[in-house]
Amino acid sequence: MSRLRWQIGEVSIDLIAESCTPFDRAFLCPNSDQARFDRHTPWLRPHFIDEEGRLLLSIHSLLIRSREKNILVDTCLGEGFDFGVFPDAGNTFMKNLQAAGVDRADIDVILCTHLHYDHIGWNTMLEGDRRIPTFPNAEYLFAKEEWLHWTNSGKADSPSTLAECVQPIIDAGLASFVETDHRITNEVELEPSPGHTPGHVSVKIRSGGHEAFITGDAIVHPVQWAEIDWGNADVDHDLSQAIEARRRIRDRCGDTDTLIIGTHFAPPSAGYVRKNRDGWWFEARIQTSGPDDTLVRADDVSR
Ligand SMILES: [Zn+2]
Repeated sequence: MSRLRWQIGEVSIDLIAESCTPFDRAFLCPNSDQARFDRHTPWLRPHFIDEEGRLLLSIHSLLIRSREKNILVDTCLGEGFDFGVFPDAGNTFMKNLQAAGVDRADIDVILCTHLHYDHIGWNTMLEGDRRIPTFPNAEYLFAKEEWLHWTNSGKADSPSTLAECVQPIIDAGLASFVETDHRITNEVELEPSPGHTPGHVSVKIRSGGHEAFITGDAIVHPVQWAEIDWGNADVDHDLSQAIEARRRIRDRCGDTDTLIIGTHFAPPSAGYVRKNRDGWWFEARIQTSGPDDTLVRADDVSR
């Protein structure tokens, strides 16, 4: 797979891949239906569903290089865990991070959009049977509200790896608990998008008159731009709040030049939320692997 990279003004964003797995529609969105889904397959193919119509879910991290800081958004599944639903990716993630031209020591900020296990894994790495911070020079940002939910509610939303992937960061003095609208640099700031989890954040990037938006799990699959109320009440902490967050993002970014980068969208992982007379859809941004990030629009992208 060619490397995915986007340039937003003076900020570059690289996708650091870990894995990509197909899931049945009914598993990912139990409240969806086949007839409506079939209407969207022309634009979901070939990037976002496989040949059998299953939804592709990518696990990746996004490396933001702004003038001031190298910021890594989410840290995937990590090493030494078996979550059942995802294949073991080994150390693909670390290899891909190196291929993007950065070393662990070069990362200044880690931002976890929320504390589900598929977003915090590589916060730490194994040293013998001990877990140590993977990024020794980074400030690790967690939304205060998110942390309070996980530590106070007593409700396990999903398999929790906080002991392995967050506690060692706190013990090492590298954790900062921030507000959900925290500004990381002049060009990069958080935007609250609660629902999937109570303290969930997305990330806004603005530079040189250009804008990009990293969704986090406010949206998991591009089909949800068209079917905004499809979701999974077992995975979303508050499904109706998650739908509202998604709708707000679509209202603001839809039919604009804001590049949407999905945290679980399969490659090419980014594009534009569009509206036509049939409703909303997502136009994948196809790119060559050229260094100038040449945009090539495939003829089959539009319906
Ligand atoms: Zn996730």
